[in-house]
Amino acid sequence: MAEDYPRTLLELEKRFGSEEACAEYLAALRWPGGWICPRCAGDEASLVRRNRWLCNHCGYEMSVTAGTVFQDSHLPLTVWFRAMWQVASQKNGISALGLQRVLGLGSYKTAWAMLHKLRRAMVRPGRDRLDGVVEVDDAYWGAEEEGAIGRWTVNKALIVVAAQQDGKGIGRIRMRCIPDLTQATLHGFIAEAIVPGSTVRTDGLPAYMGLDSYIHDRQVQRQQKEGVHLLPRVHRVISLLKRWLLGTHQGAIGYEHLNDYLDEFTFRFNRRTSASRGKLFYRLAQQAVQIDPAPFSTLVKPQPVVPPGVK
Ligand SMILES: [Zn+2]
Repeated sequence: MAEDYPRTLLELEKRFGSEEACAEYLAALRWPGGWICPRCAGDEASLVRRNRWLCNHCGYEMSVTAGTVFQDSHLPLTVWFRAMWQVASQKNGISALGLQRVLGLGSYKTAWAMLHKLRRAMVRPGRDRLDGVVEVDDAYWGAEEEGAIGRWTVNKALIVVAAQQDGKGIGRIRMRCIPDLTQATLHGFIAEAIVPGSTVRTDGLPAYMGLDSYIHDRQVQRQQKEGVHLLPRVHRVISLLKRWLLGTHQGAIGYEHLNDYLDEFTFRFNRRTSASRGKLFYRLAQQAVQIDPAPFSTLVKPQPVVPPGVK
């Protein structure tokens, strides 16, 4: 199907006012080539009872949300669509507290779980890796960050970031929370994030050595001029990431969830030049019906953080 999405909040409100309208939209994203019955391979079905499809041949019934991030949710799809719009339409995203307020949700926990499920849909493992010239470096998140102190700073978290060169600017990025700076960990990340044969530019850390499937461009510190970064793109990305974590989320992020936030940042960054917020909504909805469900029990317990002065 051609990329079909609402352009404005008004369009969203008009178009997705019912469960049926939302379900039809998700079905078109989930089965772009048309619905096929998993039991009899029939290709004709009717929408019955809100978001369920009934096979006209064998009577098999299935929900459009089965196996997606919306599975097992008691919330109406109309609420999910508004949440996706909020996530997509705001340049820096939205916090759980912000989402709870704007949608009038009964609990913080509900808003928190929705955002985490949507984050799981933002970055799809194994999809197109970076190529060309890619800068890779590691960074810490935590202890030194103002605003994070006294909340989550039990330990510092290690993050590895890859940033593709695009002329003088930055192309796409990938990032991951990592347990250590060993060769196995760093090489594993590079293999997952970067196409073999690409040029990987790193600093002189010995653990980066032995990248046999890549052209390894090691930048050694003694050549560095004062104030000049040898890996300028990756440093720019790290500083934008930290600003985002401290700004939108006030640094209030449990380490066990840091990867989910990195995925959201990556999703936004890689689509930062997209002129249309509606298009981000489209991607999010599309990816949300493609991934495995993340039931609430598999997400670690919510850790509500109320910023100072908020009740
Ligand atoms: Zn059937």
